[in-house]
Amino acid sequence: MTAYKGKYHDELIANAAYIGTPGKGILAADESTGTIGKRLSSINVENVEENRRVLRELLFTAPGVLQYLSGVILFEETLYQKTADGKPFVEVLKEGGVLPGIKVDKGTVELPGTKGETTTQGLDGLLERCQKYYAAGARFAKWRAVLNIGPNEPSQLAIIENANSLARYAIICQQGGLVPIVEPEILVDGPHDIDRCAEVSERVLAAVYKALNDHHVLLEGTLLKPNMVTPGSEAPKISPQVIGEYTVRTLQRTVPAAVPAVVFLSGGQSEEEATLNLNAMNQVKGKKPWTLSFSFGRALQQSTLKTWAGKPENIKAAQAALLARAKANSEATLGTYKGDANLVEGASESLHVKGYKY
Ligand code: 13P
Repeated sequence: MTAYKGKYHDELIANAAYIGTPGKGILAADESTGTIGKRLSSINVENVEENRRVLRELLFTAPGVLQYLSGVILFEETLYQKTADGKPFVEVLKEGGVLPGIKVDKGTVELPGTKGETTTQGLDGLLERCQKYYAAGARFAKWRAVLNIGPNEPSQLAIIENANSLARYAIICQQGGLVPIVEPEILVDGPHDIDRCAEVSERVLAAVYKALNDHHVLLEGTLLKPNMVTPGSEAPKISPQVIGEYTVRTLQRTVPAAVPAVVFLSGGQSEEEATLNLNAMNQVKGKKPWTLSFSFGRALQQSTLKTWAGKPENIKAAQAALLARAKANSEATLGTYKGDANLVEGASESLHVKGYKY
């Protein structure tokens, strides 16, 4: 058998291509209840369902923002929530031309015998969950696998195990009608240089695409969500131009042209850094058969969160901050960002947290 040919074949291809529309990208707002709690506590807001709902309403109803987005990733709770006026978030997004997505993994557990390496859980019952989320309006999914760079890491075990579970997840999503975002995140943590990150990224991506092929995944109906190729968090910083060149070269060596779009995670970069790096990639000349876009969580929400600070009177200003970042990232997907969104407080602040859990 070759790649998936089931009933969602054409729809998967169309939705993946739509998400990859140049000028648009993804807002990752799928923080689990624990993770959003850390964000809320940073602005002294209590982690209760209503506050989580208010934050998500602020994001999804921000005037002008949805034109720059093709997808929003939701956490299960958010998929079923509504605006204060009683309109389901899924409807708000659909009316704005944005596809709702859903985080379907259940977090990571340690691989015994390794130095803290992990695998991601959530395969049991996944088809049924995908079917349920599809019925609720979701059209794509996310599953985050996490690898790290150490003297002997990532181990072959971690690479193979995570590639295989990403591939199992991807084909199950396709059976359930959801475009899988394949996310093998290599953490930025560590003192390694950019060459080491490039080498590890190539090895991991090559293994992931081998596994996707083994599992008969329809590549045209998938998206890749990788880390950018950068030096480690404890190494000296380098220019967006160099990051852009290394990242594009890594993708050229590993990501099939059948994949419609690569949507990067921000991985603890500041908002401005993430935008400049994406912009630089799109300025690189050479073979780029995929759209290079964003699926940012922290790098789209940080200044918005700070501006909001949990106060109703700040909602308008917070939404304006989100609009500035969304527009900047939209321009970055076209390589036309001029650096003018860096005016809002918090935009240049590093968002790196060691061993970050989503
Ligand atoms: P960051 O952009 O904050 O890294 O998050 C994106 C994401 O969805 C990670 O799984």
